[in-house]
Amino acid sequence: MSAPRTTRKALVIGGGIAGPVTALALRGAGVEAEVFEAYGTSADGIGGTFMIAPNGLAALAAVGLAGEVDGIGQPIGRMVMEDGKGGVLAEIPVGGRAMRRAELYGVLQRRLREEGVPVRYGRRLVGVDEGPGGVTARFADGGTADGDLLIGADGTRSVVRGLIDPAAPGPQYTGLVGVGGRSAHRLEGLRGRGESMHFAQGGRAFFGYWALPEGAGTFWFSNIPQPAQLTAEQARAVSREDWLALARELHAEDLPARDVLAEADAASVEVFPRLEIMPSVPHWYRDRMVLVGDSVHAPSNSSGQGVSLAVESAVELARCLESHPDLPGAFAAYEAARRPVVEQVAADAAVVNDRKASAGAGTGM
Ligand SMILES: Cc1cc2nc3c(=O)[nH]c(=O)nc-3n(C[C@H](O)[C@H](O)[C@H](O)COP(=O)(O)OP(=O)(O)OC[C@H]3O[C@@H](n4cnc5c(N)ncnc54)[C@H](O)[C@@H]3O)c2cc1C
Repeated sequence: MSAPRTTRKALVIGGGIAGPVTALALRGAGVEAEVFEAYGTSADGIGGTFMIAPNGLAALAAVGLAGEVDGIGQPIGRMVMEDGKGGVLAEIPVGGRAMRRAELYGVLQRRLREEGVPVRYGRRLVGVDEGPGGVTARFADGGTADGDLLIGADGTRSVVRGLIDPAAPGPQYTGLVGVGGRSAHRLEGLRGRGESMHFAQGGRAFFGYWALPEGAGTFWFSNIPQPAQLTAEQARAVSREDWLALARELHAEDLPARDVLAEADAASVEVFPRLEIMPSVPHWYRDRMVLVGDSVHAPSNSSGQGVSLAVESAVELARCLESHPDLPGAFAAYEAARRPVVEQVAADAAVVNDRKASAGAGTGM
């Protein structure tokens, strides 16, 4: 069944992950989509590393990307919880895939090109004009675009969220800094096979690691408690070398963190100075506008679900637009399907996050 005739064109604001997947899903549902991205060029090569859980992989398969996604990153069969000294506390089967954000981004951009979905760079949404027959997006460069509906896939600092509800909450700081990168360290035994992700709450910070394919070393990350949120300037003032030195200091008593960090490559270190979450958003849609992805539900990184929830919601939104004759009906069905799921994930992740953030004292940076 193709989408109702009243929904012909969607303006998708944000060309990160949720925006492109929404555009692809809409095309499959018979809705024309145009993507508008604030940045002037594509974000190839930008971003860290994450795991896509089975629900996210299923959503990507639903837009025909199973083959491409199978060709990037590495499969992760199990999550292993450890005690910080190398001892195993629990093993959880997961069936996910770890990859660099840039790899998934590349797959999505390629598919958008193949499908002929226009992506307009350097178009930062600043406002909308709504009328009975449609919506007009206004951009910072003075340009406009017309559509039947507008989808806010514009991340945690969403402009669309504020246009839907000026009183909407903004993102909240989790009390943690994310630092991660590559190490030449070769893990041994089962750990070295690269089929499992390992997590350990150390005495002063949380550590995650896994073996990269083909003996390429180890990927690691540390969630460092930092009660006072760093300003952008403070974050910029700390070098990669200093972040790595801090991680080494905080994990000096933790195994195998100490050994992994001893061989870590400072040049590969990426820093997310303010890990953030979205609190519950009261209004997911209004009139012809609706939110998808991090703009409406960004769980803590402790959930391992940020990307997966975003792409699942993108696919669900397209399904609802396809199966409901009117926008209010489609948006209400979309929220009803997704809100309970994303709020449960957020609540579970908040518990883990609080445990991480309360470990050890602040770093003083
Ligand atoms: C550079 C970067 C690196 C990331 N790295 C990681 C990571 O390592 N691990 C992880 O778990 N998550 C990471 N994330 C977050 C992760 O990608 C998201 O949780 C998930 O992909 C949800 O994607 P999203 O499309 O909803 O939001 P995002 O990926 O944040 O994309 C939102 C897009 O909207 C654009 N945008 C914002 N405002 C406007 C506007 N007014 N007009 C037009 N466009 C606008 C932004 O430039 C961005 O491209 C990263 C996000 C970014 C932007």
